[in-house]
Amino acid sequence: MKLSFFKKKPDTFDYDVSRICKVCNHMFKGRYCNICGEKVLEPSERSFFNFLDSLLNAFTFLDGKFIKSLKLLVTRPGQLSRNIADGQRVPYMKMVSLFFVANFFYFLFPVFDSYNSSLYTQLNSLGNHSVKAKEIVQNKIDREAINLQDFERDYANRSTNLSKLLIILLVFAFTGLLLIINFSKKTFFFDHLLFSLEFYSFQLLLNSVILANLFNGLVKLNSIWGLDLTFLTTDSFFSIATVTTMIYFLLRGQLIFYGLRWYWNIPKTIILLLLMQGTVHVYRIMLFYFTLWGL
Ligand SMILES: [Zn+2]
Repeated sequence: MKLSFFKKKPDTFDYDVSRICKVCNHMFKGRYCNICGEKVLEPSERSFFNFLDSLLNAFTFLDGKFIKSLKLLVTRPGQLSRNIADGQRVPYMKMVSLFFVANFFYFLFPVFDSYNSSLYTQLNSLGNHSVKAKEIVQNKIDREAINLQDFERDYANRSTNLSKLLIILLVFAFTGLLLIINFSKKTFFFDHLLFSLEFYSFQLLLNSVILANLFNGLVKLNSIWGLDLTFLTTDSFFSIATVTTMIYFLLRGQLIFYGLRWYWNIPKTIILLLLMQGTVHVYRIMLFYFTLWGL
């Protein structure tokens, strides 16, 4: 038996035979019990190769669903949420899984600290908060006679670990914004949550992983070609690229998922972007205090 990595095996399953469900004893035809959903276990599924196959799939995310979901995420924002909300779930990865895969890749290849602010960013780039944060850190270092380098290292480790968890708060905050901005009696909390998860999956995968690493790679190549591309990895250029892709996502996404007309879509996109920036700011401040709390 061959590994069915990319090829689909011919279906030799006998759909006409009645079977008794091993879980609930219900009699049914086909691959799945229509009461409890248990799947018929075929002899081939008990083979070692099949085990290897599913193991590989679990680790590589190459089972087709991830690629299919990613393609839709980039080419038709909002369509994945729309399909899932309308009951088409099997062809795609679960939205929560997609979000966690995106999150995993982001922390594996971080280029910018968009969701995990370094101590430097906390102390210098966040306005009023930075002034206060500087004071708190200075006091702590003086009081406990800590070595600054040790402190920075411990801070970075703890902040990275915490942000993997706290990023969920951003998803819920954006869900809340969507609930208010796109309120309708026909749309449930679950629907807004789907769209919010899709938004952050897009943001993490396309911007923080694909674009950020692409820019980073191009800058590293510039010594070979003698081109100066360092502007690609400046904060301001990356911010412009990020905001542009977010506008693209929200305009297309709100059209596809919420069915918004353009005269609502444009102002709502602007309001959502501004409020979302606000939630990221609050998130970073929370991350600072949560990180410091345990040090
Ligand atoms: Zn059953």
